[in-house]
Amino acid sequence: MNALPEPATIPRVALVGAGPGDPDLLTIKAVKAIRAATVLLVDDLVGEGVLRYARRSARIVHVGKRGGCKSTPQAFIERLMATEALKGERVVRLKGGDPFVFGRGGEEAEHLRAAGVEVDVINGITSGLAAVTGLGVPLTHRDHAHGVIFVTGHAKAGEAPLDWPQLARTAAQGYTLVVYMGVAQAGQIESGLLQGLPAETPLAVVQHASLPQLRHVVTELGQLQTMLAREGIGSPAIIIVGDVLRGLQALPLSAPALSAAAA
Ligand code: SAH
Repeated sequence: MNALPEPATIPRVALVGAGPGDPDLLTIKAVKAIRAATVLLVDDLVGEGVLRYARRSARIVHVGKRGGCKSTPQAFIERLMATEALKGERVVRLKGGDPFVFGRGGEEAEHLRAAGVEVDVINGITSGLAAVTGLGVPLTHRDHAHGVIFVTGHAKAGEAPLDWPQLARTAAQGYTLVVYMGVAQAGQIESGLLQGLPAETPLAVVQHASLPQLRHVVTELGQLQTMLAREGIGSPAIIIVGDVLRGLQALPLSAPALSAAAA
């Protein structure tokens, strides 16, 4: 009887994983959330095809830094999500891959909860997974890899870079390394990893995984920087290191899996 009246709707934001780019890799749950949204805040690694599921009337705000625009400050994005949700809008924050894999989704969820907004998180296929699958090799293998290490090549500004020699020693025990945001730091990654892994360790770089413009090269660890310079491969790309790639390395260059590299 004395209960406070319930608000018409509880303010909430959905952090939605848009997957690696191919809209066919969206989850059904993600599509439902995108369809229901009245406001969408979209990162630049979100494939254009994903937005075809948004309502025509939805307000779409691009908050990425590609395409010549400056990146929208993180604080602004977080404020905008919270104010729109508190106004009663159905807000979807669309992030490339999975929202909780190197996507600052954790920071955004904390901020929203502190502002009194509920947060739903919808998984997406992370680009590290899509990149490896696109090569046709597994991330784990009973004979070569007992686990996977997902790691970012890009430390937070002001923080010490990762301990690549230590990571290499761990990977040498039979783990596949999957490096996000590593292309700009390739020199540091290569020299660090060479302190714990042989130069001949198979390595692949996959750019634009799952998209028509996909490119990939399979080489060896000791060739990382030289290969990137030669092939002109830049971001967004995933670097994969480990014996799961061994079969690919042995394939002749004309094999379908290597055709993009050979082109
Ligand atoms: N949350 C995202 C990662 C964001 S960090 C995810 O789960 O995939 C941004 C990095 O992701 C890029 O620098 C790149 O390393 C990687 N990335 C994102 N999309 C990619 C794609 N289609 N192909 C290759 N790498 C991609």
